Formats: sequence, C-alpha cells, structure tokens
Amino acid sequence: MAKKQFAVIGMGRFGSSVADALSKLGFEVLAIDASEQKIQEIAGSVTHAVSADTTDEETLRALGIRNFDVVVVAIGADIQASILTTLILKDLGVPRLIVKAQNELHGKVLSKIGADKVVFPERDMGLRVAHHLISPNILDYIELSDDYSIVEMKAPTQFIGKNLKQLDVRAKFKCNVMAIKTGVKMNISPYAEDIIHEGDVLVIVGKNNDLTNLEIAYA
Ligand code: ADP
Repeated sequence: MAKKQFAVIGMGRFGSSVADALSKLGFEVLAIDASEQKIQEIAGSVTHAVSADTTDEETLRALGIRNFDVVVVAIGADIQASILTTLILKDLGVPRLIVKAQNELHGKVLSKIGADKVVFPERDMGLRVAHHLISPNILDYIELSDDYSIVEMKAPTQFIGKNLKQLDVRAKFKCNVMAIKTGVKMNISPYAEDIIHEGDVLVIVGKNNDLTNLEIAYA
C-alpha cells in the first residue's frame, strides 16, 4: 500500500512541528506558507516546501492539493485565512482535513464548514500542564470526550506492593486501570492479582471529575 501523503499549511510553531514529525516518520510532506522565510526554514526537513497564499483557490488547485490524503491547516492567528483555506479545501474535495483552532468559536466554525478534525493544541497542552501541576505523578492527560479522559500516572507510593484488587480504584474512584507499564513492558489487560511495582506507570480511564478526585487523593 502506498504511504499516505500529507500537506501542512502554515509553518508556525505547531505546523512546522507537525510537518517535521511526519517527515521524520518517513512520510511525504508538502509544506506551504505565505512567508518565503518560513519556507526556507522548513525546506530542509520536508519533501517539498512551497510559498503560497492558501486563501487563493487557483493556487491550491495548481498545487494538486486534492491528491493529498490528509491536509493539516495550521494557520492560527489569522482566523479569516484559516476559515477561508478550510472552506476552499473542503470544496476541492480533500479526503481528510485537520484544522488547528485558535479558540472554541473558531473551532465551532471549522466543524460547521466541514473540518474532519479540529485540534486545540494550546488548550490541550494547558490542560496537561494543569493536571501535572495538581499532581506531579500525572505524566499525561488525554481528553476522550467532554466527560471522559485518560491519565497516565506514576504509581503513587501507597500503591506499591499492592494488587489491583486491594487498591480497588474502581470502587473507590469509579476509574478503571487499563494498563500497567513496567519499564518498556506494557501489560494491557491487567488482572486483579497483578502487583504494582515501584516506578510503574498506570494508564487509567474515567470521568473527568472522578479522575481529578483520584489525582488529588494521591498528589
Ligand atoms: P503558531 O501559533 O502555531 O506559531 P501562527 O498563527 O503564528 O501559528 O503561524 C501560522 C503560519 O501560517 C505563519 O507562518 C503564516 O505565515 C502562515 N499563514 C497565515 N496566513 C496564511 C495564508 N493565507 N496562506 C499561507 N500561509 C499563511
């Protein structure tokens, strides 16, 4: 099967990081930005880099943008340019369109005009940092929906040497331990008898409020 081809529009901090990461993962990446300087900066890291204004339909058509499997729109500050670009890409029939939103309202508009996925990198990172601040044990925090999330948590000292049955996180906090990481080994369907060791990392799913209670209890 042919490798997916990606186009990333907007070489700000987020866009250039996405383009660079995809390229390092071995994918073909076309980077686009209105600024010639940004294009020169990214040119060495991606397959093609083109300076163009993506609010111009003809330009996007000429670049053959609809032949890309996924297009990421990472224009942040200029909301009008972001919306116009998204609208044109949708009209041109891009198969999958991922767009960075600057705020909730911007995100709503993007969803309405057909973005397949809207991402909020600043908001999500802020949320992660906040959870890490509540409890330094929290290594990562991923929102699954408005109500549910997954946390990756260093096993608190109170957990060490106990098994999942004894800890009974499910009854006490209404949360589920989905996986236990021990070094590089990952136990993805832990049994009630599995013991938590020092240095283990727990992957826990639950309702946001219940997870917060758990985080605070072992902060
Ligand atoms: P970040 O917050 O991720 O750094 P920015 O909003 O600062 O994102 O950067 C977005 C990039 O998008 C800038 O490099 C800018 O030149 C580019 N950009 C803005 N408008 C357009 C447009 N109409 N066409 C192409 N690129 C654009």
